[in-house]
This record gives sequence, structure tokens and C-alpha cells, in this order.
Amino acid sequence: MKNIWKNIFALIIFGVFVFLFRTTILNDYYVLQDKYFPCSRPISYSIGSFDTSFGISKADFLSDIQQAEMIWEKSINNELFVYKIEGGDLKINLIFDNRQANTFKLKDINQTIEGDKTSYNNLKSKLDSLQKEYSAKKSIFDSKVVALEDSRKKYEDQVTYWNNQGGAPKVTYDQLNQEKKNIESAVAIVNQLQSDLNISATEINNLINQLNSFASSVNGQVKNYNTINNSLGQEFEEGSYVVDQNGKQIDIYQFENKDKLIRVLVHELGHALDLEHVDNKNAVMYRLNDGINLNLTVDDINLLKAHCGIK
Ligand SMILES: [Zn+2]
Repeated sequence: MKNIWKNIFALIIFGVFVFLFRTTILNDYYVLQDKYFPCSRPISYSIGSFDTSFGISKADFLSDIQQAEMIWEKSINNELFVYKIEGGDLKINLIFDNRQANTFKLKDINQTIEGDKTSYNNLKSKLDSLQKEYSAKKSIFDSKVVALEDSRKKYEDQVTYWNNQGGAPKVTYDQLNQEKKNIESAVAIVNQLQSDLNISATEINNLINQLNSFASSVNGQVKNYNTINNSLGQEFEEGSYVVDQNGKQIDIYQFENKDKLIRVLVHELGHALDLEHVDNKNAVMYRLNDGINLNLTVDDINLLKAHCGIK
């Protein structure tokens, strides 16, 4: 009888102990489980801080995270992450700083460059057609000048001849007078053509100046683009995975588009799974985010399988 009471008493003590320290016990259990049976328990995650300056909604961000999550999960057909509205073990933060500000700047510059290029091409084709028109007019002008010189020379020869004869007969005199009038009106036409050509030449020169200033504006913009782009670097600075006194967190700082965002999320989720970098440039777990594939490479999958103890 005494023993039964002793046992009951011990059980109550144990119960109170478990009750009082239930969180610690559970956490210790999870730590051990994660250590000895990795991938057996999905990592719960929540969205932590979320900056709207990126121009995407929280719902979109969550859907991108879920796509990134799926990319890992479908490779081994196992639940590796689970979303919790609040209080997940892993916080995923979207943090706006100069990295994304520069990305937006680059986008703007790119648009300006594209706009300038379009204007440049439009002006260039206008210039080409003006130059064609000009050389067509110029060759008409040149042949008219040659013809004019020719008739002027003939006229002057005739005049000299008849002067030496002491004067021309009335019919010839009238013909020469008519010829003189013809030459004068031909001169007027040639002069008109000449001033048309001058106007065209000025227009062409103005266009060439505009084109040059567009070209130097594009060059300046490209230089500006490269400076900002080089300052961004290529490392996976778009995001980072951190474990500190606040727990586990993924910080996302920069992305150019949806695919790049998903790719950096896949990479950082990989770190959250305890995966390290691999040497394959196409791998999502390569140290640089310069690939474009959203699928895992064999190297990524092998890394995960090795970590999860799957053959
Ligand atoms: Zn990394």
C-alpha cells in the first residue's frame, strides 16, 4: 500500500515537472529530433518584417515563398517547410535598403536608354532618307549646272562671233536675246535648287548633332548603369540566412524580378535546411545568383538527399 502511494506521488511530481518545463522539454526534443532525424519535421516559417517599398503584396510574397518551398519539397516528395501565420521557427523578412533602391534606379536607367535608343533609331532612319533625298536633288542640280554652263558658253561664243562681224542680223539678234532670257531663267532655277539644297544640308547637320547628343547621352547612361551595377556585386547579397539570439531568419534585400526572387528564396531556404554551397554554377546552392533556372540541379538534390539521409 505504501509503495503505491510512493509511485503515485512520484508520478505527480514527474507530471508537475513535465508540465512546468513542457516548452523546454519539447524544444530539447525537437533539437534532438532535428539532429538525429533531419527532415523528419517540417520547419515552420512566418513572414516577419515586410516592406511595401518593393511594390509587391504580402500575398504575392507568400506565394513566391511557397513556390520556392515546393521546389525543394517536390525533389524528395517530403514536407520540408510549413507556413504559420505567426510564430514560425523561421522568420522570412523583406528588407528595403539601397540594394533594392539601386535595382530600381537601374531599371529606370535601362528604360531611359531603351527610350533614347528608340529615338536614336527613328532619327537615324529620318537622316538616312534625308541624305538619300539630298543626293538625288544634288545630282539633278549638278546636271543642271553643267547644262547651264554649256548654254552660257555657246551664247557667249555666238555674241563674240557677231560682235566681230559688226552686229547680228535682226533674226539672229532676236534669237540671241531669247537665248539670254532662257539662260537667266535657268540661272534662277539653279539658284532655287541651290537654296533648297542648303536648307536640306542644314536639316541634315541638325539631325547629325541630335544623333551625336543622343549617342553621348546613351553612353553616359550606360556608364552610370555599369557603375551602379558593379556596386551591386554578384554575390548572394540579395538575401541571407541568419541564426542569432532572435532565432532563425531569412532576410531578402534585393530582386530584379519574380524569378530572381524565387531563386534567392530557394537558395536561402536551402541554407535553412542546413545545406552549404556547391560548385556547380547552375546549382541553386551555388554561391552566386547568376543562373536563371528555377529547377534544382542534380548537385542540389544530392546535397538535400545526403542531408536528409535519403539514398
Ligand atoms: Zn548562400
